[in-house]
Amino acid sequence: MIKKGQNIAILGAGESGIGTAILAQKEGWNVFVSDFGKIGAEYKTALDKLVVDWEEGTHTMERILKADLVVKSPGIPDNAKNILAIKEKGIKVISEIEFAGYYNTAKTICITGSNGKTTTTLLTHHLLKNAGINVGLAGNIGESFAKQVARENYDWYVLELSSFQLDGMFDFKADIAMLLNITPDHLDRYENDMQKYTESKFRILQNQTADNWTIYNYDDPIIRKELEKRNLLSKVVPFSMNEELEQGGFINKQEQITININNKQQFTMSIHDLALKGKHNAQNSLASGIASRILEIRKESVRESLTDFVNVEHRLEFVAKVHGIEFINDSKATNVNSTWFALESMDKPCVWIVGGVDKGNDYSELTNLVTDKVKAIICLGKDNGKIIEAFQNEVETIVEASSALEAVAYGYRLAKKDETVLLSPACASFDLFENYEERGNEFKKAVRSL
Ligand code: ADP
Repeated sequence: MIKKGQNIAILGAGESGIGTAILAQKEGWNVFVSDFGKIGAEYKTALDKLVVDWEEGTHTMERILKADLVVKSPGIPDNAKNILAIKEKGIKVISEIEFAGYYNTAKTICITGSNGKTTTTLLTHHLLKNAGINVGLAGNIGESFAKQVARENYDWYVLELSSFQLDGMFDFKADIAMLLNITPDHLDRYENDMQKYTESKFRILQNQTADNWTIYNYDDPIIRKELEKRNLLSKVVPFSMNEELEQGGFINKQEQITININNKQQFTMSIHDLALKGKHNAQNSLASGIASRILEIRKESVRESLTDFVNVEHRLEFVAKVHGIEFINDSKATNVNSTWFALESMDKPCVWIVGGVDKGNDYSELTNLVTDKVKAIICLGKDNGKIIEAFQNEVETIVEASSALEAVAYGYRLAKKDETVLLSPACASFDLFENYEERGNEFKKAVRSL
């Protein structure tokens, strides 16, 4: 495979790049880090401390092309000119997760999907940690996997994996892989080809053998269709919201999460006791619950952790009730599917704040839910034409706002007692905000100042 003392070029000096530098240096590689943009001050200090060569504001290709291995940040597209030149020379280009996988000895639970990755990763980590397992959290979240492989000594990792990370993974093998759902997202990086995006997500299953487990969403038509084409060697456990599965996880008629895995006792728990509300979160809870039962975590411990888990911000987050009007922040809903689940979970008439940078959205999937649940729409984006066109026949009141403050003021005016104002934009945030966190934080600030 790879030998010590060879040259490694690391492209992109963010969290994953710095982690790779730390691990590569520990393992005896000659490290060169190159970032086309500016490197953050904290990361520069880390590189200087390591005493490795680095550059910013350019990629010195003569030097990079002398590398034996290139590790690229997931932010750099595969078809970038420099990447194509590197590949043309026959140099292997991989992701940080693949590199860390060369040295990792802990077992891994790897989670991917178009939506729900962060929630399910955190929930699974919570379940393992509460059960006393020596477990780390990494991937698309928190501290880089490579850095932790270099410095920590965990028995298990729960890894959140994006399709961009998976694209740079070849030999990596997940002990337990989870495929939550596949719906259109990031298609700009996949030549607008849904099949290419699907295959990228399915890389999470590559190299799995009979000792490994695959947990997947039985209700997802794209996943089901792709699975029919493949012959998996792993032990497969589906989960479903609609069907009672002999082997797997489902919601039974008594509204209980039910998990049946070969030779292990059945697990049940009322969905009303779950910390995370909404259908999508019942799916996430099923997937995490299955993983913990595979690890034979005690039923009582699973139940307790699924009940007391506190989710991260900006995901269907309750903000406040002001004069009987409930405000919910779902700023992380940056595509149509995640907003579908947010609207689906609304049980009161709703004023919906939507809009931003559209990634090629098809709003028709939301028409029925909007007709049923939405009494007014507040567009929060620079260009709202598509949203107005999609819903002008369904909703009487559509207004436009150009800041979170203005949107919240409209929401407060348009909603009545016992109704909900929901920020679930179905779009990226970059037209009016730095990122989805800023959008969510400004929304919350505006609500709290009502
Ligand atoms: P990701 O890390 O994949 O972006 P998050 O857990 O951060 O996922 O959630 C992103 C958005 O998707 C939030 O609006 C959340 O409410 C919604 N969501 C969470 N889980 C699911 C799911 N299983 N299916 C669809 N939407 C989901």
